[in-house]
Amino acid sequence: MERSIEAVLDVVDDDPFSGATPTGLADQFDDPVVPEEGVGLDVAIDEVAERVLANSVDPSHPRCTAHLQCPPMVPGLAAEALLSATNQSLDSFDQAPAATILEERVIDALGHLFDLPVAADGVFTSGGTQSNFQALLLARDRYCDQRFGRDVQHMGLPTEAESLRVVCSEAAHFTAEQAAHHLGLGENAVVTVETDDTYRMDPEALDETLSALDRQGREPFAIVGTAGTTDFGSIDPLAELAERAAEWDVWFHVDAAYGGALALSDEYADRLAGIERADSVAVDFHKLFYQPISCGALLLRDADEFRWMARNAAYLNPEAHDEAGVPNLVAKSVQTTRRFDALKPYLAFRALGRDRLGGLVESTLELADDAASLLDDADDFELVNDPALNAVVFRYRPCEGLDEEAVSELNATVRETILHDGRAVVARTEVEDVTSLKLTLLNPTATLDDVAETLEAIRECGSTVEEVQREVTA
Ligand SMILES: *Cc1c(COP(=O)(O)O)cnc(C)c1O
Repeated sequence: MERSIEAVLDVVDDDPFSGATPTGLADQFDDPVVPEEGVGLDVAIDEVAERVLANSVDPSHPRCTAHLQCPPMVPGLAAEALLSATNQSLDSFDQAPAATILEERVIDALGHLFDLPVAADGVFTSGGTQSNFQALLLARDRYCDQRFGRDVQHMGLPTEAESLRVVCSEAAHFTAEQAAHHLGLGENAVVTVETDDTYRMDPEALDETLSALDRQGREPFAIVGTAGTTDFGSIDPLAELAERAAEWDVWFHVDAAYGGALALSDEYADRLAGIERADSVAVDFHKLFYQPISCGALLLRDADEFRWMARNAAYLNPEAHDEAGVPNLVAKSVQTTRRFDALKPYLAFRALGRDRLGGLVESTLELADDAASLLDDADDFELVNDPALNAVVFRYRPCEGLDEEAVSELNATVRETILHDGRAVVARTEVEDVTSLKLTLLNPTATLDDVAETLEAIRECGSTVEEVQREVTA
């Protein structure tokens, strides 16, 4: 264990990435994975250090800013050691006695954090994908029960299933469509609503969509609001969405995988106003709560909604146990064997308190604002959005007169080149069909100097790319 810690510390480097390519890496792993005789743990760890750790991206590096991949905090790493070494499994009380009770306590605290009523409940999940899936599963099955008298858990989908619809904004995460597929509804069951110029769902467009679905005899059973879209961190007007959901009597799910951590902050929590009216909330701890992957939760406004997936297995949670009050978490989860991931946010909450954790989140929002100003002031960069959270989207546009195609090509090439150069890891995305770059500034230890260094790396690399392009066209 100590050797592993040393190996991690040894690999901390000046740059966030070695720049290794897929083919270069493939050549490194030519030893047999399953040798007849093992090499011993020390040697095996050294091999991993040399080949894997040295060629890993370092999400703790201040110029590692591509994705919602956070620098994991030390309390979370300590919790990982504790929960893995003791290997508690949350699928039955007798495999995880204290862990079961603690997960329930953490879920209660999260319900409180999001101002959900006391009847709220929830469960830890692998992340936003699973939380969104499970929320839509429960929403679908409640709707089918109430609308068609259909018990989907036992009878499968009703004949009317083709009419079922999920409504979300056009900037919502792809997992809404993925969930619709997995739920047997098909991705086309997801109807997207236009966003405004800050990429938030437009409530008037939502009204039009709901009325149109009604006229067409469709059956919308859930509205999904996003609190923190992947590209822009935009937060839908949740209170207005909650109103529409109540009006049309459909489930209101909030995908707060990215933005949920604002609830920790005195300064920014009101940006989530309306989340307290959600039927369900997806929140990820492996993003802005700085916990190691994987760690998420699904919260439900009403614990009773878990009944749509109730299950008893004689060997895990016989009905007699329910009657005797033995906690039964397996029936709340889409997993069976399940990690004690709740320990990670628990240790972080206890160690740092809401105030300090909230402060970390706040510092990243402030850095994103400063980074946006820096980009806006620079002649050779074009700022695409005023950051709603800590994602800053921009383009490198070194001179006038470049058409959108040339800008796209230049930015795409620059992003690849600096990745393989290893100096900075930035994301690419498409905004109105133009390739753009994105900094996701999750790291609370990063500074504006770090951002400036990343921009400098983009400039240097961009100017060589430009020269090459000019030579090619000349
Ligand atoms: C990250 C993210 C997801 C997917 O969650 P995973 O934790 O990767 O499974 C879904 N929705 C949003 C808005 C996200 O940011």
